Amino acid sequence: MSAALQRLRAIFGYDRFRGAQEEIVGHLIEGGDALVLMPTGGGKSLCYQLPSLLRQGVGIVVSPLIALMQDQVDALLQAGVRAAFLNSSQDPATAAETEQRLLRGELDLLYVAPERLLTERFLGLLDRLHGKAQIALFAIDEAHCVSQWGHDFRPEYIQLSILHQRFPNVPRVALTATADALTRDEIVHRLGLAEARIFVASFDRPNIRYTIVERDNPRKQLLGFLADHRSEAGIVYCLSRKKVEETAAWLQTQGIAALPYHAGLDAETRREHQRRFVRDDAVVMVATIAFGMGIDKPDVRFVAHLDLPKSLEAYYQETGRAGRDGEPAEAWMTYGLNDVVIHRSRIDESIAPEEQKRIERQKLEAMLAYCEAAGCRRTVLLNYFGEARDACGNCDTCQTPPELWDGTVAAQKFMSACLRTGQRFGAAHLVDVLRGKATEKVGQFGHDRLQTFGVGADLDEATWRSVARQLLAGGLLHADAQHYGALKLTDAARPVLKAETTLMLRRQVLPGKKPAKPRHVAAADLPPADVGLFDTLRRWRGQTAREQGVPAYVILHDRTLRELAVHRPQTPHELLEISGIGEAKVSRYGTALLELLARPD
Ligand code: ADP
Ligand code: ZN
Repeated sequence: MSAALQRLRAIFGYDRFRGAQEEIVGHLIEGGDALVLMPTGGGKSLCYQLPSLLRQGVGIVVSPLIALMQDQVDALLQAGVRAAFLNSSQDPATAAETEQRLLRGELDLLYVAPERLLTERFLGLLDRLHGKAQIALFAIDEAHCVSQWGHDFRPEYIQLSILHQRFPNVPRVALTATADALTRDEIVHRLGLAEARIFVASFDRPNIRYTIVERDNPRKQLLGFLADHRSEAGIVYCLSRKKVEETAAWLQTQGIAALPYHAGLDAETRREHQRRFVRDDAVVMVATIAFGMGIDKPDVRFVAHLDLPKSLEAYYQETGRAGRDGEPAEAWMTYGLNDVVIHRSRIDESIAPEEQKRIERQKLEAMLAYCEAAGCRRTVLLNYFGEARDACGNCDTCQTPPELWDGTVAAQKFMSACLRTGQRFGAAHLVDVLRGKATEKVGQFGHDRLQTFGVGADLDEATWRSVARQLLAGGLLHADAQHYGALKLTDAARPVLKAETTLMLRRQVLPGKKPAKPRHVAAADLPPADVGLFDTLRRWRGQTAREQGVPAYVILHDRTLRELAVHRPQTPHELLEISGIGEAKVSRYGTALLELLARPD
């Protein structure tokens, strides 16, 4: 057995490496530089943690996520690793003590904020490290922060290139979950990693199930979705602060432990809500996209979007916060006509340079194509990130394929209603005209005298809305931001209007009956006889976590509890066979666990 595998088992309690981990670890141990592209939850941390343990000295980990350092260090301490962090949240005495331990060679891993690392004082400290205190490696986490075009740009990250100049013999590994080629090139270029070996893992997140539903009654739809996730932690994303507040308040009246989070709340409230979300295992965080970066909670069971994200990159990053522990998780979204109008207007009205608007429009188009996809969603997603793959069987369109219908005539009717009313109205009014509804507005404009009045009575309102949405998503219609979202025809409409091509549209098929048993509760697929023990272990874990002031998953993961409940080990040696239990955890919790496991149910 290799030394790395031996450590993986003894310290982290995992029986095998995942994907390219072993190769990456080996490469770093031998002193090579590496760039690691791996999706969230792929297991990036081990890629630098193990080599830090196996090489002489201390691994220096640069991370912009100060809030995360504490939890990461806590988890390492639980596994018996000598880890510490240095950042601005600490008091000077603690920081000074950590520096002393660093100089004495008493640390295996040190997490540092970039601005701290780059001070001349700290670099000077690193200069003094040698012998058993020497630097084992530099790990640059969230390396996409060097990208000036990205959404997480950190100016200090650009200066990290001096690490190589100053410590040319120390291997470096840069890690990120951002996949696109542009960002990758920027990382290589800015961090001077031209010689580094690049490891690209698949960006698939097979445990996440993707679902998009047409929005009709979003609250009711959300509640239905949450009913499958009782007592589970999840995130509900909304576009505006106001909607966050309202949704959280309303969920609370429905008996759901929901908390709001957005940039308009004071820092103290935000911290407290985030803390409760991370510590508890059943809080639903209702949030704007201000929430998420720096949340490393592995047992988030779902991410729900009530509004459309502006790009697939954003969507993938946000949904990627679900199921980092590899257990089943759900990405769910409601989507409607309004989303298209809002986003198009936002771009049209922005004062950004035309070139940037063009890129934003392309990104929105890809997002819409994903929503309207008739085939496997995962295929569309991964294709967008440059990966080919077949239908997955774990998304809504795979499980309930939508029907396609010839929508040419319907589209012609809709567009002609649009033209005959002077291209000055939004979808709701056009649908009224088509359906022959004598509303006040119809009367006011005399639209009941139009030829198109009532020609669409054969289709129901929802179908007409879906036609309008698909025409918008397909770029045949344009929502004019200057005129309150009035729909106008584009050049792309002409071939359909002239019947030169047929237009296939997607018809939402409502899923049949729900599966009998809840799919995703933490105890799902446990034999009924083991559920009681699982709950007992979960309570013990909650209690232990509270006593130590750490999140529950830092003590043991859900999967570990499940294996314990099923296999019921009776000796310390048998405990070690359980995934997620290494030697340190046996000596800390072995007695307590064996006692719980020996009790009759
Ligand atoms: P990332 O930083 O890439 O998002 P993490 O390093 O946090 O991912 O790992 C995600 C989860 O996978 C963690 O819960 C971690 O303990 C688990 N994990 C990582 N490597 C393995 C492995 N070889 N076997 C089992 N679980 C693993
Ligand atoms: Zn699929």
